[in-house]
This record gives sequence, C-alpha cells and structure tokens, in this order.
Amino acid sequence: MKAVRFHEHGGPEVLRFEDAPDPVAGAGRAIVRVRACALNHLDLWERRGIDRVALPLPHISGSDIAGDVVDPGGSGLAAGTRVMLQPGLRCGVCAACRDGRDNQCVSYDVLGLQSDGGYAELVSVPDENLIAIPDHVDYTTAAAFPLTFLTAWHMLVTRAGVRAGDVVLVLAGGSGVGQAAIQLARHFGARVFATSAPAKAGRTRDLGAEMVFDHYGGDFSKDVRRATGGRGADIAIEHVGQATWDRSVRSLANGGRLVTCGATTGPAAAVNLQHLFARQLSLLGSYMGTFDELRAAAPLLFDGRVVPVVDEIVPLARAADAQRRLEDKAQFGKIVLAIG
Ligand SMILES: [Zn+2]
Repeated sequence: MKAVRFHEHGGPEVLRFEDAPDPVAGAGRAIVRVRACALNHLDLWERRGIDRVALPLPHISGSDIAGDVVDPGGSGLAAGTRVMLQPGLRCGVCAACRDGRDNQCVSYDVLGLQSDGGYAELVSVPDENLIAIPDHVDYTTAAAFPLTFLTAWHMLVTRAGVRAGDVVLVLAGGSGVGQAAIQLARHFGARVFATSAPAKAGRTRDLGAEMVFDHYGGDFSKDVRRATGGRGADIAIEHVGQATWDRSVRSLANGGRLVTCGATTGPAAAVNLQHLFARQLSLLGSYMGTFDELRAAAPLLFDGRVVPVVDEIVPLARAADAQRRLEDKAQFGKIVLAIG
C-alpha cells in the first residue's frame, strides 16, 4: 500500500510518501480501506518525538479515520460498510474499562500513536472500533468528527457538567477542539464566548459564539468579565496551555471549572492558590473520551446537529504541507487527507 511514514523524528520534511507493507488482520481486528484521515496536533507531537514515549519506527500517524471495511473481523458489519473509527484503544478488561471509563484504561492508547494510523491506504484496528456511518455523511466529514468531538464531549459534558444557561469560554475557537466545543456547548444550551485570531473571528461567530475576543492581543479575561456583567465564565475550555493559562483561569466566575486537554504552547503554568480556594475554582484534566461517549455524540453528526468544520482537503502525498499548515495555525477547523 501507499503510506506516509517517518523513519526518524524531525520537521515535516521527514514525512515520506512511499510503499509500506499492507497491515495483516488478526484475531479481534478489522482492516479498513482509508478514504479520509483528519490531522490532529497529536500527529505533530508524534513526528517531533514525545518525551518518554517510544514510537515504533517507521511510523504511520493518523487518528481520525473514515473509510470502507475490507475485513470486518468479528464486528458483524459487512465488507464494504462505510465506517468511521473510534480513535481510542482500550484493553476492555481492566477495572476502568469494565467501569465504562475506558479512556483511563491501564493500557490506553490512541490510534496512530503506538500503532500505525490512517496516513495510509489501509489500516488495521480492533474490530470494536468500527462505527458505521449513514450514506449521506461523506468520508471527509466523518474523518473530521471523532477525536475533536469526542474530546470536547468529555470535557464539556463529563468533566465540566455543562448545563443550559452556562457561560462557556472556548479558547482558540477556530481550532479542531474549539469548533467542536462551540457547537456542542450551543447544543446543550450554553452561552458561548470564544477567543480567536482577529482573521478567524467572523467564522468563529458563525459557529455559534456570541462574541469572539482577540486571542493574541489584549486580555480576553477582561473581555469575558465585561460581557457577563462582571461575573465571568462557568466553564473554560483550554487546550492552548502556557500562553493563555493565566487569562483562562482569570476568566472564570466563582465556582467556575477550567477543563484542559492540551498544551500546544507549552506545559508550564502557575496557579494563584488564593484565587483557587477563595473563588472555589475547579481545574480539570481531560484526555480523549470513552466508547460510550462517542456513541452518544455520533447521532449529532449523523443528523446534522453538529457539522465538523473542514478547512482543507489535501491529497495524502502532500501530508507534509498539511502538517505545516496546522503547525502554522493557518487553518480554521480540520485539515483532512484524501486517500485513494
Ligand atoms: Zn482497560
């Protein structure tokens, strides 16, 4: 098969479009012909190399996949069924898995991280990870959905307990997680504010943000307070990290919850403990989401209540250009590789 692999860590130039061995089916596994694979920041971390995580090399990235079933394994689906893939990989037998908290599985992994992913014509996955998609949902849209909407669902619903009327601040509203969080927060009846680069503000508002504040200039925590009559946000959706952390915390109302799922600008952050206890804030970590959560979120995609924003569709052979665009934060929504 054709695939984009890297044989050593480095910049986008290490990505090679080349022949790779076809994956082989095994017990409990399925083979899928990949039609579309969306990029995530995780792909960039994998390519650069992640501290204390040894990736098998050469490596094929890609966690967000849609395609056609070639070998259904024990899934019960017919060959040829159009599917998207649950990006989480779980053992299924540990205490967390048995308890429905499979994103806390003792051997939790993400498709394309320790195993080969979707920057390829074929991928092998556990057969429980196949989710059939309706005919009217195209591969590109389906590939743009799982990781970011699952992540945003876990952050908003499970970790932060979003309720109708909550004020939700979404950092970087034009990012993959940002556009998912805005749409889900609106779906649950929240008032949504977002930050973005000024050039992305109009499109961020179109997604459902009431007001969009400058992500880079000024102090959006003051903007949030002004927009809420001095109160602040009930929930802040963070994934930017170091560059925005302090302003995100200061955006919170008394009793507010900040949920973070990433640190694209760096992991170092300080917390004013007096603010933390006196204002009764909650700082919550979040990583991916569970099988049940993706099953709960998928109908919103299928009936069009949420629509993943696709920035650009790029042929697999140009994966390096696609990663550069993500690295430069030039995109609005998801960049999707078209395959086959
Ligand atoms: Zn487990």
